[in-house]
Amino acid sequence: MTQPIFLIGPRGCGKTTVGHALARARHFQFSDTDHRLQAHEQRTVAEIVQAEGWARFRELETLSLKAVTLPNTVIATGGGIILAECNRQFMRENGVVIYLQASVSALIDRLEAYPKAEQRPTLTGKPVREEVGEVLAQREALYRDAAHHIVDATAAPDRVVEQIMTMLCGAAA
Ligand code: ADP
Ligand code: MG
Repeated sequence: MTQPIFLIGPRGCGKTTVGHALARARHFQFSDTDHRLQAHEQRTVAEIVQAEGWARFRELETLSLKAVTLPNTVIATGGGIILAECNRQFMRENGVVIYLQASVSALIDRLEAYPKAEQRPTLTGKPVREEVGEVLAQREALYRDAAHHIVDATAAPDRVVEQIMTMLCGAAA
């Protein structure tokens, strides 16, 4: 299978960590929609949002998603990529979409341990502890709607990769 693999889920669910390991395991390239966007714009997400607002950021994110969608690539997406119906449809039609589902408590632990792991402006202006649960509650249905497969991303990264490898073998059979 050479189709791109899209990893979706909230900030801290492991898209970057698992994405790199999965790409190694499958001998795929690794891309990240936020990294591509920031490199292309020569600005951080925070700078884009501050200067032009979230709506413009979302437009640029859709362009970035299309730009990184190539065969033999594992693609880590931004947590809000699923907000746009066109992005959900594009990913489903152009690859395999995997939702890395982690518990709210695991997400909070990770984000509090590594608050700068991903430099993103807060979505609600609230502390991480409150924001994570609130944002996930709003988005959970969209992650599920977009996903072909859901994996337990509260497990250790190696286990998450194993789950995905097993699932992909099953899907190809
Ligand atoms: P995302 O790209 O989805 O925002 P990251 O891959 O940057 O998430 O992970 C956020 C933090 O959580 C990192 O510090 C990473 O080491 C840690 N982490 C990621 N996946 C796991 C996991 N399965 N188990 C434990 N810690 C993890
Ligand atoms: Mg990431």
